[in-house]
Amino acid sequence: MTNTPKNATKRALVTGAARGLGPAIALGLARDGFDIAVTATNADRLADTLAAVAPTGCRVIPLALDVRSVTSVEQAVAKAVESLGGLDVLVNNAGITARTPALEVTLEEWNEIFRVNVTGALLMSQQVARHLVSAKRGGCIINIASTHGLIGFPQRLSYGTSKGALIQMTRMLAIEWAPHDIRVNAIAPGTVETTSRNEFFAANPATHQAMLRRVPVGRFATPDEVAGMVSYLASPAAAYVTGQTLILDGGLTAA
Ligand code: NAD
Repeated sequence: MTNTPKNATKRALVTGAARGLGPAIALGLARDGFDIAVTATNADRLADTLAAVAPTGCRVIPLALDVRSVTSVEQAVAKAVESLGGLDVLVNNAGITARTPALEVTLEEWNEIFRVNVTGALLMSQQVARHLVSAKRGGCIINIASTHGLIGFPQRLSYGTSKGALIQMTRMLAIEWAPHDIRVNAIAPGTVETTSRNEFFAANPATHQAMLRRVPVGRFATPDEVAGMVSYLASPAAAYVTGQTLILDGGLTAA
């Protein structure tokens, strides 16, 4: 990013862009003037995201991507680079979660959550960084972590530990890739009002109230608020910010 001429086209790839935070992040970057590759495990599910982004006039390409597969990662990054003429920004947003008492967490759950949330983010980061290093133009990687990676919550062992690992991976990659002008940062949102989260809370009102009581500002975040933080980290205003985790939690972790 820092080497990008001021009015040059910027190119971003957003994973997990079919629902939840992904579409808002893609729309935010499109409004900032990015051309974008939006990805989903099934590219057919990207129709709503494409329609939402279309009015910005940015170039947007839908891609199938399963971050668990090295081949899928290589193909998606190669297609994004080819279609957009390069990449400057990667947003590792794809993630899965689980809610299981620690004594009942299975090896299958643990491995699958790490496979998507940690290994998937690593594979994507390596593949995009290979492109950035060879293009010699710098860039930035933004990992969507969680407050669950910073503080303890009951029944969120696999998920929270995976997000803690993602936060540490952010520091490790930031240090190692700084000489290549690649910034690596994370965002740790508290609960965000997405459709799936709202459905979960509608079915579990006691959990909803308990989570809400912990948030000093008395509400959850919106997808647009996460998108705003992504826009900042992807912008030249954040040129000196790397290896950090920006917390967006209405005061949850300060309380
Ligand atoms: P979501 O479940 O609505 O969307 C997640 C996306 O990831 C989906 O589009 C899904 O298809 C994609 N995905 C899952 N497995 C994948 C795979 N193997 N390969 C590629 N894509 C895959 O979730 P969300 O609420 O929008 O969350 C987005 C990110 O934000 C996640 O990393 C999540 O952990 C994080 N987060 C969410 C909240 C929240 O309250 N919603 C809070 C903190 C952090």
